[in-house]
Amino acid sequence: MSDKTREMWELPESQGLDALFVTSQANQRYLEGFTGADCFMLATREGNYLIADSRYTEMAESECRSAAVVPHRAPNPPVQHVVSRLARDNGLRRIGFERGKLIWGLYDDIAKALEDAGAELVPVSSLVERVRAKKTADEAEMIEAACAIADRALEDVLPVVKAGISELDLKIELDYRMRTGGAEDTAFDTMVLFGARGSQPHANSRRDVPLKAGDFILIDFGALRDGYRSDTTRTFVFGRASDEQRRAYMTVLESQTASLEKVAPGSNGRDINDLALGIIRGAGLPAFEYGIGHGVGLEIHEEPFMRQNTDVILEAGMVVTIEPGSYKPGWGGIRIEDTVLVTPDGHRVLSRFPKELTEL
Ligand code: ZN
Ligand code: ZN
Repeated sequence: MSDKTREMWELPESQGLDALFVTSQANQRYLEGFTGADCFMLATREGNYLIADSRYTEMAESECRSAAVVPHRAPNPPVQHVVSRLARDNGLRRIGFERGKLIWGLYDDIAKALEDAGAELVPVSSLVERVRAKKTADEAEMIEAACAIADRALEDVLPVVKAGISELDLKIELDYRMRTGGAEDTAFDTMVLFGARGSQPHANSRRDVPLKAGDFILIDFGALRDGYRSDTTRTFVFGRASDEQRRAYMTVLESQTASLEKVAPGSNGRDINDLALGIIRGAGLPAFEYGIGHGVGLEIHEEPFMRQNTDVILEAGMVVTIEPGSYKPGWGGIRIEDTVLVTPDGHRVLSRFPKELTEL
């Protein structure tokens, strides 16, 4: 049993759990290296079972580190019968399930089938996620490689930025450069937003929005490399920045660099969030309401989540974003975001694209 697996079992063991029914794809990948979708895992202390239908059995056999692959779905029994048989065969009584990751219909089917086997489903949260939050050196390296691909792609796409190009076309150009530059995919749906549209922190890029002089260009993007992701946002001005744009940008930059400085083992995410908010509000600007940052890894948003009124103590090995912003409907938005590794003596910023105000 690896140290990570042992760590994962500490809590369920203390709660008397015999197994964990894993429906999160990222958790399946983390535990067994399996990259498929639509499959289920029953993790026990003695070993894991990967329950797959015929589309995935061969793939699971070749990818899983140690799990026994068990087929389900016709001509094999449905998943709930497979789970109850494994419970009976292995003497599993209390089986944890990921409360945020299991749909009701499947929960209901499995709970009923387990009743016949004298076993029950027990809700748990964040068992694997909490272990995943602290990256190994190898994982941190993969995230750093994804960041480097994204940095290079953004630099390469800037010559394409011209009056009249649409948000969607610029996004496609950036995505193309990330993928040809070594990413297997984008880390998430890239956001390219022009002008006033930047006040919607997570809007979709559109083909009917052309770039005009004086627009902010907000680009939130990341690369996916070996399953691991990067997450960066930069905001540019197309043409000359107005005094108001410059003042707002410098405030968000100050907020971002000051909060970034606080990233270290032992720091509380709540304090980092409050510091970033205070600088933006102190300048009389509207401040972001989402949290200052989130973990990044196999998923684009994962633990730890740093936000208002939530204590989260950072630990060495965590990879988090720092992404304050200011958004004003009808005017636009500014966000500056980096992906950062918490190191034993502080932090290392993994996304390195320059942040000073850039007029394109
Ligand atoms: Zn982002
Ligand atoms: Zn982010």
